[in-house]
Amino acid sequence: MQKHDVRSDGASSASSNLSGKRVVVIGAGIGGLTAALAFAQRGADVHVYEQASALNEVGAGIQLAPNGARVLAALGLADDMDHRSIIAQAVMPTDALSGKVIAQFDLSSQVPPYRFFHRAALVDLIAQAAQTQGVDISFGVRVESIAKDGALNTNIGKIPCDLCVGADGIHSISRLFLGNTAEPEFTGQVAWRATIAAKDVAPVARIWMAPNRHVVTYPLTDNTLNIVAVQERDTWAEEGWKHADNPENLRAAFDDVCPELREILSHVSETYLWGLFRHPVVKRWHNDRLVVLGDAAHPTLPFLAQGANLAIEDGYVLARCCDEIDDLDAALSRFQLLRRARVSRTIAAANANARNYHLSGIRRRVAHTGLKTLGLIAPNT
Ligand code: FAD
Repeated sequence: MQKHDVRSDGASSASSNLSGKRVVVIGAGIGGLTAALAFAQRGADVHVYEQASALNEVGAGIQLAPNGARVLAALGLADDMDHRSIIAQAVMPTDALSGKVIAQFDLSSQVPPYRFFHRAALVDLIAQAAQTQGVDISFGVRVESIAKDGALNTNIGKIPCDLCVGADGIHSISRLFLGNTAEPEFTGQVAWRATIAAKDVAPVARIWMAPNRHVVTYPLTDNTLNIVAVQERDTWAEEGWKHADNPENLRAAFDDVCPELREILSHVSETYLWGLFRHPVVKRWHNDRLVVLGDAAHPTLPFLAQGANLAIEDGYVLARCCDEIDDLDAALSRFQLLRRARVSRTIAAANANARNYHLSGIRRRVAHTGLKTLGLIAPNT
């Protein structure tokens, strides 16, 4: 039963199911902060607990697709997004060996636009809006376990709630408390991330594809170029983003590519390496008082740039379900029902892109058709 709609300027309205309900969110990542903002706009008393000592997003760039941007616009952030990102004009799959552009997918007509964000800017944008809406964010609070009634056991003591939202990312402990213990599987791929100084770069995402490898590059607002490079390998690095690697290893993996890409990689002075793991979508998304979203529920390989976009969608849909359906269990079940099929389809498309980008089998069948099929970008591109 619908109580109210959030106004397009993001302001809350009075007769909410959530009025006065204490919602705690574990994790001040993109998913947790979006959920916090969405719940607060619908009248909840929201507290976010983050283990890090500050908002320190690792990794530089994030592609915000129209599906994620549409949600943030509905939360009142349309103007702020325009000021703090680069509007993407195209995606250009390129043969990394010859340097020849294989295709150009126009993104210039996307509404809302497809954007390249600095992660820190995107997180800051959502966090500020949440705080303005009354959300309380506490840093240096590590959740150690979650009781049956949703209460958090933390390094600062017990924290009660009416609803606990587990937005604690790829290494989520929340999902364990729902009984989701499936182990991830190594994909046979590792990834490096890096940024280099780069002025006047066209607002385009290049996907440099080679057998068993690819590199994605796109510009960021601070005159840097964001680089993510993926290589197939038998051995793997840990699953985590903070493992420094020698840039020479990155260059060695791409030493046979075209001069333009070699030149880009020659400027890398600091890089991080991690293993890419495939996680099953969790079986149980919620119990009576605890629900998971974002990477905690459905970690996604980065080949469709959708992990954060899906986490943003999750946050909005969850708040809406809890607002519109009186019974909490029914609301959480509805959330799971609405999200599971969509995230599963998106994850399958990202998995397929791993093959497409590495020119294995279906050479030249280019990945961003996936975005169209999924309705994440408009069909006219
Ligand atoms: P996270 O961002 O991981 O946030 C989880 C938070 O919870 C963290 O701040 C963590 O410190 C905190 N936390 C964890 N455990 C606890 C605890 N016990 N107590 C308290 N706090 C805790 N997605 C896109 O949509 N577009 C892209 O372009 C894109 N590019 C990517 C590039 C790379 C290189 C990678 C690796 C991923 C990329 N993704 C992209 C995926 C995206 O980054 C993730 O899907 C997204 O960040 C998930 O958000 P989240 O809020 O669920 O989790």
